[in-house]
Amino acid sequence: MPELPEVETVVRELNKKLKGRLVKVVVVNSPKMVGVGPATLSPKRQIEVEKVKRFIGTIKGKEFVSVTRRAKLLIFNLSGSWSMLVHLKMTGQFIFEDAKLQERTQGFYRLLNKPHAPLVKMPSKHTHVVFKFTDGSVLYFNDVRKFGYMKLVHDKEMGQVRELQEFGPEPLNKNFTELCFFTAVKKHNRRQIKEILMDNKVVAGIGNIYSDEILFHARVRPNRKAVGIKNYELSNIYKYIKPVLLKGIQAKGSSVGDFVRTDGSVGQMGKYHFVYGKRGRKCKKCGTIIESIKVGGRTGSYCPSCQK
Ligand SMILES: [Zn+2]
Repeated sequence: MPELPEVETVVRELNKKLKGRLVKVVVVNSPKMVGVGPATLSPKRQIEVEKVKRFIGTIKGKEFVSVTRRAKLLIFNLSGSWSMLVHLKMTGQFIFEDAKLQERTQGFYRLLNKPHAPLVKMPSKHTHVVFKFTDGSVLYFNDVRKFGYMKLVHDKEMGQVRELQEFGPEPLNKNFTELCFFTAVKKHNRRQIKEILMDNKVVAGIGNIYSDEILFHARVRPNRKAVGIKNYELSNIYKYIKPVLLKGIQAKGSSVGDFVRTDGSVGQMGKYHFVYGKRGRKCKKCGTIIESIKVGGRTGSYCPSCQK
């Protein structure tokens, strides 16, 4: 699942590419993935013809003004006081194709970071929404698992979007202080530290990959209960949150899963993983074999020598 660095990579790329583009045509192939209004799209999303018509009718003719992010939610600011909120969930991907990229790729992309993954032609059977702009460029929204969503919300209803109210502090912002982190963690004394780091209400945007990597650098095992973690260890965890996430952004995300950048190329963060996805391999620091353990239904990987 894309985490803060992957989503931030998409945000920065699309912000540059979409700015000032006017939506001419919208194609919705999977009605259950789109919505209009602040309400949460339920898992049993109804297929409503009217809703799709409203989605298309609302966004057609709008200009993409800017793209921002809150936690793992992408916020596309549109002209006319509307925003489009997009969650990539497990396997959501955006591909932005203009004449230059079309010339380079002929419309074919390798959307999985596997050497033998086939090239797929856009739009593919996993393309659920297509935005065509007046200048001929196209934005494709792909999602193999179909857990992602996009919904249009008017600015005056943004306060009613529940996801936005529930997110904890942004770890890259100045207001995410050590005190704020300590206070949030202490509220969850009985839970395991990896689980707490992945809780978007404690700190926004960290998932399986980056919680593993942060805990490796902080030398704390993922399954330790918060109550038993000493203050200096908690301090170390806090200290590594920002640099690990920034490294992820600098490397344009990790493509160990299904993540690809908006031109179909892969992020390089995978090269810098110390423990995530490394079970059975040697620790880059000490040579001990990396182990893994279940934490809150997820798998946490750690070095039994480096992490206590
Ligand atoms: Zn080690």
